[in-house]
Amino acid sequence: SALTTSALVILGASGDLARRMLLPSLYNLDADGLLPAGLSIVGVARSDMDADAWRQEVRELLQAREPIDETVWARFAERLDYCAGDVTKPEGAACLKGRVDGRRPLVIFFSLSPSLYTAACASLKAGGVITDSTRLVLEKPIGRDLETSRSINAAVAAVADESNVFRIDHYLGKETVQNLIALRFANSLFEPLWTSQTIDHVQITVAETQAVGDRWPYYDDYGAIRDMLQNHMLQLLCLVAMEPPSDLEPDAVRNEKVKVLRSLRPFDRASAQHDSVRGQYGPGMVEGEKASSYEAEVGRPSQTETFVALTAHVDNWRWAGVPFFLRTGKRMPERRTEIVIQFKPVPHSIFGGAAQGDLVANRLVIELQPDEDISLTVMNKRPGLGDVRLQSMPLSLSLKSLGEDGGRRRIAYERLLLDALRGDQTLFVRRDEIEAAWAFVDGVADAWTEAGMTPKPYPAGSWGPAGAFALIERSGRAWND
Ligand code: NAP
Repeated sequence: SALTTSALVILGASGDLARRMLLPSLYNLDADGLLPAGLSIVGVARSDMDADAWRQEVRELLQAREPIDETVWARFAERLDYCAGDVTKPEGAACLKGRVDGRRPLVIFFSLSPSLYTAACASLKAGGVITDSTRLVLEKPIGRDLETSRSINAAVAAVADESNVFRIDHYLGKETVQNLIALRFANSLFEPLWTSQTIDHVQITVAETQAVGDRWPYYDDYGAIRDMLQNHMLQLLCLVAMEPPSDLEPDAVRNEKVKVLRSLRPFDRASAQHDSVRGQYGPGMVEGEKASSYEAEVGRPSQTETFVALTAHVDNWRWAGVPFFLRTGKRMPERRTEIVIQFKPVPHSIFGGAAQGDLVANRLVIELQPDEDISLTVMNKRPGLGDVRLQSMPLSLSLKSLGEDGGRRRIAYERLLLDALRGDQTLFVRRDEIEAAWAFVDGVADAWTEAGMTPKPYPAGSWGPAGAFALIERSGRAWND
């Protein structure tokens, strides 16, 4: 096949992402027979070791996860190669060129600090590693704001056409997220109801119990709005809010997503005060254990938010008047990522008496973490001969039991690595999308500065500052807790 001499390069092969996500994903793909025969996987880092030493490292990290299948390992180990060198220097590029020359397609995964992207692109281009057909896979964060994002994108555009640039948002690799597209566009049931006529509001929650931990030097410069909202949460919002694309071609889908981002109502000083809340965790209890404050972890005072809640408005025909409530935080009481589509109540209730109070509006909940599940609550009658009483029952599409391979939950990166090897950009973020998302986030950050809004403390192990409840409750709605 055309793929027989392909190569995948991992820049930053000894790093956290490569070890926790990329190498286990590649091994799993190989175990399932999904990697092209002859695909070579070349690791690059400055750490001085040879290919055998790297293979040994990879074997150990895989073994620490689950028992190794020796047949799969023999095949996988054969693919692994390693280049010790600095990718921003001519020697690093020369070493890599020796390993991948003539291999097509060539996919280069940047599992490096984004501060090295510009220098690595220039050096790999000058060294003849990046050619016209090379695909570049880039991790977040692409910039810290619109300006820095543009500068990285411009450096990448100088060496590769946009059709060869694959910007990762690993949420898009999740099965439930792709299922959201199937749910909306493969059923006649939902799409006619997917408008402001029937939907009351949308909630997107990304709650983590974890602290910032070792990542604080990065995190303290970014905060929740840049680390989570700019990418993952706005991507989810786009998939919920976008118009039906004409097909699943990458640009058809991405054109629709970018229209949503451009329809987001910008924040100003007044709307920031009314429609957004910043928080930072203080000491508290998380999952039964004492937890220290963010500032204690960072070791100095900080004005970085570890929690944000905001009301986004998608100013277009379909979503006029439908608020999108978004919130994300660290040190929350539980780990939960979900999208809630709250439908409006029935226009008139025919149920009197006690049944009147039982009546609740339909709610579609798309859960991404800890489990992947989609459920729709519908009202029905409680069985029995007494007075009519109603109950709401979830219709569940549990993805755990429907898994194609005996329920093994795939790492999101498996899908994305495979798509990059196949050249399918549908689940990757285009330059204009990422820049439109930054423009929105910059607007929020600027409005916070103008309004003098600093993060409000919240106890670790709580759902954020009181203002996060007021934000949604003042319109008579409530978080799905
Ligand atoms: P990391 O643990 O710091 O790893 C960085 C890797 O780059 C190491 O293998 C390092 O090895 C190598 N490296 C550094 N400078 C180099 C150079 N000049 N030439 C060649 N190799 C070099 O970082 P990470 O956490 O894996 O993150 C990688 C990327 O993924 C970043 O873009 C990050 O923002 C993104 N990301 C990571 C996570 C995560 O969960 N870790 C989540 C989201 C996004 P040597 O020191 O031996 O050179």
